[in-house]
Amino acid sequence: MAAKYVALPNGVSEREFDAAIAEFRAALGDDNVFVEQDRLVSYNKIMLPVPDAEHAPSAAISPNSVEQVQACVAICNKYRVPVWPISTGKNLGYGSAAPGNRGQVVMDLRRMNRILEVDADLCTALVEPGVTYQQLYDYIHERKLPLWLSCPAPSAIAGPVGNTIDRGVGYTPYGEHFLFSCGMEVVLPNGEVLRTGMGSLPNSNTWQVFKWGFGPYLDGIFTQSNYGIVTKLGLWLMPAPPAFKPFVIRYAEEADIVAAVETLRPLRMANIIPNAVVISHALWEGGAVAKRSDYYKGPGSIPDEAVQRMVHDRNIGMWNLYAGLYGSPEQIEVNWKIIQGAVKASGKGEILTAEQLGHDHVFKYRADLMQGKMNLSEFGLYNWRGGGGSAWFAPVSQARGGEAQKQLALAKTILGRHGLDYVAEFIVGWRDMHHVIDLLFDRTDAAQTEAAKVCFQELLHEFAAQGYGVYRANTAVQEDVANLYGSVKRDVNQKIKRALDPNGIIAPGKSGIWV
Ligand SMILES: Cc1cc2nc3c(=O)[nH]c(=O)nc-3n(C[C@H](O)[C@H](O)[C@H](O)COP(=O)(O)OP(=O)(O)OC[C@H]3O[C@@H](n4cnc5c(N)ncnc54)[C@H](O)[C@@H]3O)c2cc1C
Repeated sequence: MAAKYVALPNGVSEREFDAAIAEFRAALGDDNVFVEQDRLVSYNKIMLPVPDAEHAPSAAISPNSVEQVQACVAICNKYRVPVWPISTGKNLGYGSAAPGNRGQVVMDLRRMNRILEVDADLCTALVEPGVTYQQLYDYIHERKLPLWLSCPAPSAIAGPVGNTIDRGVGYTPYGEHFLFSCGMEVVLPNGEVLRTGMGSLPNSNTWQVFKWGFGPYLDGIFTQSNYGIVTKLGLWLMPAPPAFKPFVIRYAEEADIVAAVETLRPLRMANIIPNAVVISHALWEGGAVAKRSDYYKGPGSIPDEAVQRMVHDRNIGMWNLYAGLYGSPEQIEVNWKIIQGAVKASGKGEILTAEQLGHDHVFKYRADLMQGKMNLSEFGLYNWRGGGGSAWFAPVSQARGGEAQKQLALAKTILGRHGLDYVAEFIVGWRDMHHVIDLLFDRTDAAQTEAAKVCFQELLHEFAAQGYGVYRANTAVQEDVANLYGSVKRDVNQKIKRALDPNGIIAPGKSGIWV
C-alpha cells in the first residue's frame, strides 16, 4: 500500500499528523491543505546539489488571513508540527519553495496577496506576503502614480515580503531592500500579533514612515529567522525621478576589477551614483544570453581563452559596470561630467549609454532593473549549462579593488578544482559588495552535482578562513553557515528562539536556529 504521506514531520506520528491535517482542513477548507504527492511537487523543486528528498514537505497549507495564520499556529503548537512559511516561494538557488528540512509543512502565503495601502505623497506601501512585484507594479501603473519599485532580478514572479525578509537586493537607489522597509506585522509562535515600530501604538499613522518606534528595534530579528510569520510589510517606494540615465562601463581585463571598484567607490559613497551598482563578469554577461557549448565542450572549467573569445565575439567587457543617474536633467548633467572625469582619470574603462546600446538585450534588461521594471531576462543563465542546478554563493566583500581581486582569485581557484565556471557579479552597496557567484551545474548529472556540493563547502570554508562570510545561505547549508558565525551568535539566536517559540514550530533550522 502506498504511504499516506510523502513524509512526516520529525517526531510526529502518522496518527497525530492525521489529526493535525484534519484540523488544518477545518480551519482553511479542504482546497487549501495539500498532502497528495502531485500537489506537493511545486514545493519540492529545489535546484541545490542535494537530493530533493532531503527537503520534501509533508504537506502544504495556504491560509488567507491573519486569523487563519493564527489558527494554523495553534494547531502546529498542539501537535508540535513544524511549519515553513513562504511568501511568493521563488527563493530560487537558495531553496525555492521547499522547506529547510524534510517533513516540515509549507505554509504558502500566496493567497494573502492584498495591497493594503499605497500612499503617493509619502511614497510608502503596505502589502501582504503573497503580493508579487508585478502586482505592485501594475497597481502603481494603472493608477499612474509617480512611484518606482526596487525589485530583484526575478522581479515579476517574486515579491517584496519574501525578498526583504531574506534580505535580498535590487538595483535602484532603494536596492538594499530591508533598509527601505518600514514596519512589519508578525504572527508570533504563540499566536499573538505584533506590529513593529510605530505599529504597536494604537491609532498611529506613522507605522510606514518611522522605522524605530520605542525601545529595542525588533524588525531585524524577523529577517532570515524563524521567530514569527510576517503577515504585513511596509516599504518605501522611490519618487519617480524626472529623468534617468543608465550607463555601462566596460573593462577589458579581469584584473581591471581593481580599477572598476576603486573608481566607483567614491562616487557611490558620495551618492553621485545613487543606485546599487552591478559589476558583472563576462561569464554572467554572456552566460545570460549564450550557451557554454558554443564556446567550450572540453573537461574542467571554461578556460580563460574561451571567455576572451566570447568577450570578443559578443563585444562585451570582461567586467561590465552598470549604474544609473536619477534626478532632473540638470542634476544628471552635473553628475555625468563627474563620472566621465573619474573614468578618464582612472585610465581604464569605456563608458557607453543608451545612445550606443539602446537595442542591446543585456543593456536593456539591466536598465529595466535599475528602474524597477519587471524583467526575467536573467533566467537565461540557466541555459548556460542546462540541467537546472543552481546554488548561490554570495560572500560579502569590502568595496575595495584589492579585496575584490582577492575574492575573485580565491573563487576561481576553488571552482577550477571542480570544473565549475566563475559566473559572477559584484553588487555594490555604499561600503560593501555582495560578491554573487552562481554555481551552475547539471542536476541530472550525478558527478557534476556531487562536484557542486563539494565545491560549495570548499567555497564556504576557504572564504571563511580568510574572514569572508556569506550574506544569505541556501537551505542545504544553513547549519554550516551558522557554525561559521560562531557559538556566541548561535547561542543568542537560540535563546531568543526558546523564549518566543518553545515548541519549535516555526521553520526549525532556518539560519541554523533550533529550539
Ligand atoms: C536568475 C535569478 C536571479 C536572481 N536575482 C536576485 C536578485 O537580484 N536579488 C535577490 O535578492 N535575489 C535574487 N534571486 C534569488 C531569489 O529568487 C529572490 O531573492 C526572490 O525574491 C526570493 O523569492 P521570494 O521573493 O518568492 O521569497 P520567498 O521564497 O517567499 O521567501 C524567502 C524565504 O524567506 C522566508 N519567508 C518568506 N516569507 C515569510 C514570511 N511571511 N514569514 C516568515 N518568513 C518568511 C522563508 O524562509 C522563505 O524561504 C535570483 C534568483 C534567480 C534564479
